[in-house]
Amino acid sequence: RAKGEGRGTHRFFEPAMDVEVQARRSVELDLRTALAERQFALAFQPFLDLSDNRIAGFEALVRWHHPVRGVVSPAAFVPIAEETGMIVPLGEWVLRQACREAARWPTGIRVSVNLSPVQFRSGDIDATVIAALRDAGLDPHRLELEITEGVLLQDNASTLAILHRLKGLGVRIAMDDFGTGYSSLGYLRAFPFDKIKIDRAFVADLSLRPDALAIVRAVTTLADSMGMTTTAEGVETEEQLAHLRGAGCTEVQGYLISRPVPAEAVAPMLGSDVACGWPRRA
Ligand code: C2E
Ligand code: MG
Ligand code: MG
Ligand code: MG
Repeated sequence: RAKGEGRGTHRFFEPAMDVEVQARRSVELDLRTALAERQFALAFQPFLDLSDNRIAGFEALVRWHHPVRGVVSPAAFVPIAEETGMIVPLGEWVLRQACREAARWPTGIRVSVNLSPVQFRSGDIDATVIAALRDAGLDPHRLELEITEGVLLQDNASTLAILHRLKGLGVRIAMDDFGTGYSSLGYLRAFPFDKIKIDRAFVADLSLRPDALAIVRAVTTLADSMGMTTTAEGVETEEQLAHLRGAGCTEVQGYLISRPVPAEAVAPMLGSDVACGWPRRA
């Protein structure tokens, strides 16, 4: 509950809409103070290179530690942050924080950061990335930016120009949630992505539906021929992992390898990775 928002607010809404509208409005109000009050934190989820079974990097995933609600998932607040424009300062914080953390990791380990389409519309996302890298002292080659089709849907020349500038710096660009939107293949031609993240919907179906395996194989083959790598998202079982190896996927990410962990758990994980390799049985 935000300050100054009393019970009396209820009477402005129809009873049926009340709960949803109120919840949204309260998230919106709370988001404004959350950044200033340092309520956000990053969780990091490793992705594994299948050629050597070593951790190649970590994806930064934002978490909101709300003083009353507890941990709020990004699915519940990122869309509201996008509508209100709050995603711009929040996204900048995520980028800076992720780069700062990564600068402390071994130099072979990359970090990936999700960018919202709204951050592209705000104009100076490339300047923000450059400043975050510089201030953290992070080599641009160690940063990956994950964008969804929504970014390219904006269909303006400046979006592509920004992506090309970022790529020119050495930053890697990944297409996230591949296969869930429309005209995905067209987007692969629109921009030379470094990496395609195959959406977990396909991974989840791998053991259940033969067509899911056919799709994954087709995507890895296509990516390969276009000089792009592939990362499978949401890998939860050994069976899925085996299918993905067979299909020639470059990297895997998911609960089977590790859930997202707090920043302090990254170094110990890398320590054990170097010592024993992954998975337990190679
Ligand atoms: P995403 O970028 O596709 O991230 C993957 C999501 O799948 C994460 O959820 C992750 O925790 C979850 N996940 C990973 N492995 C598994 C698995 O094996 N099984 C299942 N069921 N789920 C798995 P999370 O952290 O809740 O984030 C959800 C979405 O919120 C992200 O999807 C991304 O679109 C967005 N998001 C998260 N952090 C940020 C951020 O800093 N900025 C922006 N713009 N969006 C973010
Ligand atoms: Mg992502
Ligand atoms: Mg994804
Ligand atoms: Mg997703």
